[in-house]
Amino acid sequence: MAGFQPDDVNPTEILVDFNHPLAGETLHFVVTVAAVREATPQEIAHGHPHHEGCEHECEDECEEEEEDEEEDEHEEEEKEKV
Ligand SMILES: [Zn+2]
Repeated sequence: MAGFQPDDVNPTEILVDFNHPLAGETLHFVVTVAAVREATPQEIAHGHPHHEGCEHECEDECEEEEEDEEEDEHEEEEKEKV
């Protein structure tokens, strides 16, 4: 977690905003589709794309990656809501 500054401090409470610094900001992305390819059978079986050179076999690794992807998706949703 990144460092943070308390928003308000008094003798009994400290108010801290843990939102990402870009929370509430409108973000625009300019992207270029560099390539399009068919999903590999392993990607289809795992339900997620693999980066080039990623050939993991362990389901535990996939579960961890899926959690990361879910976080990324939530971040994307937040960006789109704004
Ligand atoms: Zn996988």
